[in-house]
Amino acid sequence: MSITDKPSHFLEQIIEKDLADGKFSSISTRFPPEPNGFLHVGHAKSICLNFGLAEKYQGQCNLRFDDTNPAKEEQVYVDAIKEDVHWLGFQWAGEVRYASDYFDTFYEWALHLIREGNAYVCDLSPEEASEYRGWATKPGKDSPYRTRSVEENLDLFGRMRAGEFDEGAKVLRAKIDMASSNMNLRDPILYRIRKQSHHQTGDKWCIYPSYDFAHGQEDAIEGITHSICTLEFQDHRPLYDWFIENLPVPHKPRQYEFARLNLNYTVTSKRKLKKLVDEDVVSGWDDPRMPTISGMRRRGYTASAIRKFCDMIGVTRSDGIVDVAMLEHAIRDDLNENAARAMAVLNPLKVVITNLPEGEVQAMTAAAHPNRPEMGERTLPFTREIYIDRSDFTEDSTLSRKKFKRLVLGEWVRLRSAYVIRADEVVKDDAGKIVEVRATLVPGTVGENPPEGVRPRGVIHWVSASQGRQAELRIYDRLFTHEAPDRGEEDFMKYVNPESLQVVQAWIEPGLADAAPEQGFQFEREGYFVADRVDHTAEHPVFNLTIGLKDTQGK
Ligand code: ATP
Ligand code: MG
Repeated sequence: MSITDKPSHFLEQIIEKDLADGKFSSISTRFPPEPNGFLHVGHAKSICLNFGLAEKYQGQCNLRFDDTNPAKEEQVYVDAIKEDVHWLGFQWAGEVRYASDYFDTFYEWALHLIREGNAYVCDLSPEEASEYRGWATKPGKDSPYRTRSVEENLDLFGRMRAGEFDEGAKVLRAKIDMASSNMNLRDPILYRIRKQSHHQTGDKWCIYPSYDFAHGQEDAIEGITHSICTLEFQDHRPLYDWFIENLPVPHKPRQYEFARLNLNYTVTSKRKLKKLVDEDVVSGWDDPRMPTISGMRRRGYTASAIRKFCDMIGVTRSDGIVDVAMLEHAIRDDLNENAARAMAVLNPLKVVITNLPEGEVQAMTAAAHPNRPEMGERTLPFTREIYIDRSDFTEDSTLSRKKFKRLVLGEWVRLRSAYVIRADEVVKDDAGKIVEVRATLVPGTVGENPPEGVRPRGVIHWVSASQGRQAELRIYDRLFTHEAPDRGEEDFMKYVNPESLQVVQAWIEPGLADAAPEQGFQFEREGYFVADRVDHTAEHPVFNLTIGLKDTQGK
């Protein structure tokens, strides 16, 4: 993309106007995750937006951890978030930043507000404070501590910092307007006492700033020009602006809001995703069923397809719900274009080619991709015993050629990239189940049309029984059975799909065992699969179903 492209949404229009008016010579954005969980597909939208704008307008985008709440934050999340942003294809400007880097400045600025008569230490208990706060249609009342002198406030706040008071005993509040129609302006909390170690600052602090007191000030310190957040922060904007106006900040950032991504059949809340992990519903944050970036990655979704999806859904100011089929469509499109083709038989039926001697191995060649010769070719060993899928054979010769384009007793079918064969007889076990099909190959049909009178019904896939390898296939389905699992009365855990994972053993063409972890394939006629990032090895091949070949859900 270049700046000559038309603005594609309201934020681009705003930025182009700011640049044209000379308000800024270049833009700065930031992606500000709280390190209290892994990033999900909603965050991907925010990442693509913030980093994408910086790229398009040759500005910069910071990665900043909003680590003001020591209780829920951990280093593992910090590491995972960095990896996810990189994997999506973005690079932050300079070093990673932490809100906690600025705790000294925030403390100074809190003192500044106290000295200006704009903040006070309040001793109301949480219950009392909430009573004093009123509600949307009822103005709040002033706290009895609101009139404390500057000296008293400075003394008490210093002692809060020194650890003299218990958690919850006191807070520092801004002195704004208890009657404001905007609840966020009713003397919001600036600092709370929390006697907890922090993953960055250790035991240096026992008071921590609130999100509201931290966020805009972080933006100001970093020189962020456009601070982009989701719509639920719209009502916080007057407070954001109040801090910027009332503090000696080096820059004046502005906050803009856009609609968060909601996907049907999907839960996008770190708290709820954490519950799925903690209760072992999934194997971890990177379980391929999770809508986390690392889960989607392990599932075989590509970074480029996720970015494309974020482009497709656009950026608006009105909330809506996106059909998860759109995401799946983007993945399928990308894999159809880029994934190498391969063969795997999930439900094997043995076929013995009676006119091929035992021990003979013929090398067949097949294109890695039908439309991409540059992707090269692969070799497929063809042997006397092969597997085809059980569903690709029937004894019922009354089925029309149109209905059943596979192998029928007494008729022909083409084996993909190999011979045309004819099914001559079946072998059954005592229960009457077919255990083997005996067939003959038609000589000279590799890459050539069969002779007159030989009419294959279709083309099916196969794997050599003696040269093929066994693999574990993890067949995934949607994690939730309800299209809005967390938007109703019921607990979202009720809608977890008990059949979201099935493990099957399959036969795979031998070269697939050497696939690199995360390499994706189209298993012909079966679906898109990826070599599992964690468990796949040449000795024990493991593939995850990324997505089926067609959208079979719904309709
Ligand atoms: P969660 O509700 O999952 O905990 P969060 O908003 O608390 O999400 P943060 O780590 O604070 O998570 O979010 C980092 C950034 O990602 C914020 O700017 C936030 O607005 C954005 N973001 C979070 N969820 C979504 C979403 N569903 N769609 C778009 N952006 C999102
Ligand atoms: Mg949050």
